Amino acid sequence: MKIAIYPGSFDPITNGHVDVATRAAGIFDEVVLAVYDAPPKRLLFSTEERVQMARQALQHLPNMRVESYTGLTVEFARLMGAQFIVRGLRVISDFELEHQMALTNRELAPDIETICLMTRREYAFLSASIVKEIAKLGGPVENFVPVHVAKALRLRFGSSEQQTETVIPTQLLRD
Ligand code: ADP
Repeated sequence: MKIAIYPGSFDPITNGHVDVATRAAGIFDEVVLAVYDAPPKRLLFSTEERVQMARQALQHLPNMRVESYTGLTVEFARLMGAQFIVRGLRVISDFELEHQMALTNRELAPDIETICLMTRREYAFLSASIVKEIAKLGGPVENFVPVHVAKALRLRFGSSEQQTETVIPTQLLRD
């Protein structure tokens, strides 16, 4: 059985992440989307919130699970019985970091392969940071993230000067 983990911060999950996860689910028997609880960046959402949003975004994939983890990614992969780590590649600048991480992880765990999936063209410039910036400034994020994530972003930034709850479209509040 081929098992992969797809690790990341997912703060929050975007359509680019969903695309990579969906394609990974078509390649491997089982995929665990692994939400890293303490990445070296400022987080907008708690670990539990990031897990819940990812679960809802991926609930249509029967061979996909979402779990949080602490510590080394390769150790979490072993814990899950995974032989593969999936990562997404957008632009050349992603390559440098992914290359460095893949080689480091190979040193730590030679039995685990890193597989990088190329982004789709429409998601090449999509990142969680850009989405958060747009939402913070009151811009529309519906084309970039699942509906429930757009709603969570609006609620999170709802009290800022740029965005008030009165402008939240009602259909976003329904689910
Ligand atoms: P990290 O903090 O580990 O970079 P992210 O949540 O930002 O975690 O991203 C997780 C993985 O998903 C990374 O491999 C990243 O390159 C990839 N990724 C992020 N956005 C996209 C996208 N739009 N298309 C394809 N892959 C993406």
